[in-house]
Amino acid sequence: MTPPRWQDVARATGLLGDDGVPRATVFAEMSALAARTGAVNLGQGFPDVDGPASVARAAADAIAAGANQYPPGPGIPALREAVAEHQAAHYGLHWDPDREVLVTAGATEALAATVLALAGPGDEVLTLEPFYDSYAAVIALAGATHTTAPLVAGPDGFRLDLDALAAAFTPRTRLVLVNTPHNPTGTVLDREELAAIARLAVEHDALVVTDEVYEHLVLDGPGTARHVPVATLPGMAERTLTISSAGKTFSFTGWKIGWVTGPEPLVAAVRTVKQFLTYVNGAPFQPAVAFALRDPDVAAWVVELAHSLSRRRDLLCAGLEDAGFAVVRPQGTYFVLADAAPLGYTDGVALCRDLPGLAGVVGVPVTAFTHAGSDVDRALRSWVRFTFVKRDEVLEQAVAGLHRLHRG
Ligand SMILES: *Cc1c(COP(=O)(O)O)cnc(C)c1O
Repeated sequence: MTPPRWQDVARATGLLGDDGVPRATVFAEMSALAARTGAVNLGQGFPDVDGPASVARAAADAIAAGANQYPPGPGIPALREAVAEHQAAHYGLHWDPDREVLVTAGATEALAATVLALAGPGDEVLTLEPFYDSYAAVIALAGATHTTAPLVAGPDGFRLDLDALAAAFTPRTRLVLVNTPHNPTGTVLDREELAAIARLAVEHDALVVTDEVYEHLVLDGPGTARHVPVATLPGMAERTLTISSAGKTFSFTGWKIGWVTGPEPLVAAVRTVKQFLTYVNGAPFQPAVAFALRDPDVAAWVVELAHSLSRRRDLLCAGLEDAGFAVVRPQGTYFVLADAAPLGYTDGVALCRDLPGLAGVVGVPVTAFTHAGSDVDRALRSWVRFTFVKRDEVLEQAVAGLHRLHRG
């Protein structure tokens, strides 16, 4: 008898216990540990300050004005138009808001609907490794096979191993799921890396799906990167679906408004699945996000958020280095990866369990983002992910705690 699909999902995410009972994720374990010990929670990546008041007010106004019933299946026209305008203004990508833009329940649903629509048993879905944890789950839900290409730590940060990338493509590679700026490494893929992905996707006739939820959270300072959507590369718009969402850009992660843009046949395929997952969501949040995407003051707020995150990254990186971690400075996102090996820890999970007692801080082991037993899993066994999307005083408290490690 075929095992139920939830077991494939649990196995693919490392959550199927030997007793057949699904375990809690390490994110849940570490958040519970933070709550129990009162440690500073730098595990889960959500801001502890909300986004612009004008955007929150737009949602409240929308509720008061009666935006409380099912919105149209593909999303309200104003939001689809705002997304199309955003892609044109920032990247020169031109999509028809009626046929080539789809609003989803966050980037998470967009990813799930896309993979379910376009990959199945016998197909391979290629992602970077480490990878965002929901990728392994939705690939398993689709019954497809998850293959990976490694990001490798070096002097320029975590970079894509281009030889390993080429070797990871096979005749079965159906989708390439690219995440840039990348969670958890903070890498912003450069043109050479993106061009290699594009060339191999064309050669193998694979479609590309990009997760660009951190598109506006590219950090500044030495080695500043630039976010380049894969769809802007020559010949790629026709075979790429681009996914983003409002959560990270506007610091409203609980609103769950995301979108997919791309050529009509691909967006129609995703819509076909999406309409039977959630159907629709977030009626009052859709007009608020349309406002956020179009308002110049909100755009200035987002630029300032990226500056402030750069400063907060520097603060946390300095604290981690002072404590004895080896740190790879991220170019984007909310996260920094730190190696605990110089502290004498070979296992990031063990360190994360000890860290509240040692330093009053909680992180997440990077093995939460790898395939158990893979080369990347072995290479990053002693690494931990920390978020810096917290208020200065919270980060300062974390840094003071980490300093105790240095003395100990
Ligand atoms: C947070 C995050 C998501 C989920 O986005 P939602 O819009 O909240 O669903 C997807 N991908 C990555 C890489 C993320 O960090």
